[in-house]
Amino acid sequence: MTSWGDEEAFGFSCPHCKKTAIANVVGIIPTKTERLRDSGGGWGSDATHVAERAVLVQCGVCRKPVLVDQVFNWGYETRAVLWPAPMRAISAAVPVAIRETCEEAQGCFQHAYYKASVVMVRRALEGVCADQGSDKTTLAASLADLESRGKLDKRLVEWAHELRALGNLGAHFTSEQVTREDASDALAFVEALLDYLYVLSAQFDAFKQRRSSAAQTAKANKASGKATKAPATAV
Ligand SMILES: [Zn+2]
Repeated sequence: MTSWGDEEAFGFSCPHCKKTAIANVVGIIPTKTERLRDSGGGWGSDATHVAERAVLVQCGVCRKPVLVDQVFNWGYETRAVLWPAPMRAISAAVPVAIRETCEEAQGCFQHAYYKASVVMVRRALEGVCADQGSDKTTLAASLADLESRGKLDKRLVEWAHELRALGNLGAHFTSEQVTREDASDALAFVEALLDYLYVLSAQFDAFKQRRSSAAQTAKANKASGKATKAPATAV
């Protein structure tokens, strides 16, 4: 390894334990080499250095492995975490208890606990139903109630029923497996559902309110003769 700035450890935020920790370098794979710019230091024209690299590190706190992508900028800087793949952030508009449950589902997924992940997705759905005022004896009945009250449209309720069934499969001891793909889809659907209910619906309501206020103001101005006259056509 001829690159500069090779270090055996650096500080990072561990995606497993979420602590600020020392990342101990275990292995380095150069992913891009570049010719050195000769600034008079006498480097040969063929001299190269590692401009980008993938670095396998071990967290100094939880001892778990992490693969990071680094770029050389007079020392190596971490550009992204390659593994475990970062999960999508759940909006702060989602109620805390539901958000935390969903984040737990994401955490289980990152550690390849797919059954546990879909069970947590199901639990997040229960939280959504309770938060939306549908606290029936079964999750299926609560979802039907949400649909009948127009909180969720038919398509989303269909998704939710599939997630519920997958969650049941994860929770019970059967020979049927929950695959990585199933768990990944479950997370994507529940994230979309949360966006629909807590982010987009609120944003759309605010949009409608704004449009309605603007229309009322324009109407009031017109009635009081304050309407702006159309400017003379510029030629
Ligand atoms: Zn850690």
